[in-house]
Amino acid sequence: MHNDLYAALDIGGTKIAGALVSGDGRILLRSQAPTPAREDGARVMGAVSTVLDTLIADPRWGRASALGIGSAGPVDASAGTVSPVNVPGWRGFPLVERVRNATGGLPVTLVGDGVAMTAAEHWQGAARGYDNALCMVVSTGVGGGLVLGGKLHPGPTGNAGHIGHISVDLDGDPCPCGGRGCVERIASGPNIARRALESGWQPGPDGDATAAAVAAAARAGDPVAVASYQRAAQALAAGIAATATLVEIDIAVIGGGVAGAGEVLFAPLRRALHDYATLSFVQHLKIAPALMGTDAGLVGAAAAASLSAQGETAAVGS
Ligand SMILES: [Zn+2]
Repeated sequence: MHNDLYAALDIGGTKIAGALVSGDGRILLRSQAPTPAREDGARVMGAVSTVLDTLIADPRWGRASALGIGSAGPVDASAGTVSPVNVPGWRGFPLVERVRNATGGLPVTLVGDGVAMTAAEHWQGAARGYDNALCMVVSTGVGGGLVLGGKLHPGPTGNAGHIGHISVDLDGDPCPCGGRGCVERIASGPNIARRALESGWQPGPDGDATAAAVAAAARAGDPVAVASYQRAAQALAAGIAATATLVEIDIAVIGGGVAGAGEVLFAPLRRALHDYATLSFVQHLKIAPALMGTDAGLVGAAAAASLSAQGETAAVGS
């Protein structure tokens, strides 16, 4: 019964979550704090320490053999640093070293949040049993990760599979990343809502102008709302097809709030995939909704720690 657990941290722009996770992927203990995203780096680390202290105070903490971190990106797993776009106080912040010091020297593995979600879906979710998978989170942004040859593929810095920032529109709109016509610039929730509003869609009496409201309108048959989801589906399909053509994946798993639109997104996505995934070796590609929900970040961080301990990925264990 000793050393059979993993500790996990999920670092996002709005909350920092922690957990103790069993060797078979069950969350045994949770801890959470809001991210003081507009404050200095030390205060953000203070929130991480608060979350860790709850875990450390639990009698089961002694059974944790390693700790995994999934963080909003960019991350640099080779350097052990994070620079989350929505946490300006952390730029090149040495999170791995700080967490290792706070936990008495546990081995720490860092991956991007898209890679963590992928590890979770491959371990327990929709990508389970698939040796070659692309998993994506489509919400405020668009992230992702890859499983290749049966193994999580975080890449040297922990960012591989970052499909949100590949260009699918050569002369498209500038993206906050500095690129142009990125998948995220077309398919993220805020961009789905923005495009619908710019094309004349009117929110209902409650004033809700989110992508979820656009999805509800699309379900009710509003043609502008339908068109905005079709455009997002087209961008996702082009990115997924490019990925499949490059590295041969069997399944693309899509989670995040925008995937909650269900067939409003998935029906046009399957249709658009026929237009872009044309070669014989990508035609069999499956599309599936993610299964792990909001626990994907924590379960995936634990999976990354476990895989790193077994030498099963290129992720940095420190
Ligand atoms: Zn971009």
